[in-house]
Amino acid sequence: MSISFKGKVAVITGGAMGIGEATARRFADLGADVAILDRDRLAGEKAALALSGNAKRVEFYECDVAVPAQVENAMNSAAAAFGGIDVLVSNAGIQRYGDVVGTSEDLWDEVMAVNLKGCFHAAKYAVPHLKKRASGAIVVVGSVQCFTAVGNSAAYVTAKHALLGLVRAMSLDYAGNNIRVNCVCPGAIDTPMLRWAASLDPDPEKVLATCDRMHPLGRVGQPEEVANAIAFLASDWASFITGTALMVDGGMLVPTGGMGFQESGTGAAAKK
Ligand code: NDP
Repeated sequence: MSISFKGKVAVITGGAMGIGEATARRFADLGADVAILDRDRLAGEKAALALSGNAKRVEFYECDVAVPAQVENAMNSAAAAFGGIDVLVSNAGIQRYGDVVGTSEDLWDEVMAVNLKGCFHAAKYAVPHLKKRASGAIVVVGSVQCFTAVGNSAAYVTAKHALLGLVRAMSLDYAGNNIRVNCVCPGAIDTPMLRWAASLDPDPEKVLATCDRMHPLGRVGQPEEVANAIAFLASDWASFITGTALMVDGGMLVPTGGMGFQESGTGAAAKK
């Protein structure tokens, strides 16, 4: 049996670029009809166009996951256009920096609204559609920071930790509907978000090289490698897996001492 989403409909938030775009491509390649929900209209339309064709159907719905009415509208529009929803990939997220003193009220609220409440909104308006099917799957894109922390990222780390609680709560609430809910936890992945974060430093290439060394596999991950894990968790191959978190981190969380230890450059096990 190989993984197939033929006849299934997948909704992917933040699907215009990065991990979300790679996930949209993977689901379309595996036979799903795909709805990309993203606030970036230009990038979203471009991605949907690029991924469509050859019997693949990928549509873009403009939507800010922090705004409940927009999420409800986009989710209902996608369900109406495709005839239902089988899979939700809650991926949209933003990276912001600051310790609690340096984090303004507005910045804290922005991160929570997108990274945490955005997932709540997506699930809230997708689940009624998933319930209409005999089975369904939700995959939330968390982070290694669901389990650990880096400095100067108080809001981001808090939101990612909370996402794991939401995943576990939903896995119980919807197990009776045969809706499985899981989380993928990426290490550093080469996306526009990572490139943007590196660009904040005067020496972005040095930051990216440090990111490579943070992973025992000796490199950052590719968006497609996260997309593969998401597809697995959403597929029948994961039919007895719910309420769990799958690390997609090149071994980052294995070494004792965590990320701070690895940032000193000791994580390059793969280069030995
Ligand atoms: P990117 O910034 O590369 O892509 C994210 C996409 O989501 C963009 O199109 C972005 O639009 C969109 N988006 C952001 N906020 C919203 C919103 N409020 N409503 C709708 N769409 C939105 O991010 P990545 O692909 O790197 O990250 C995807 C997920 O993976 C995030 O949850 C992130 O936290 C997580 N992750 C990423 C890691 C990495 O190293 N890249 C590591 C671990 C986790 P716009 O450009 O307008 O912001």
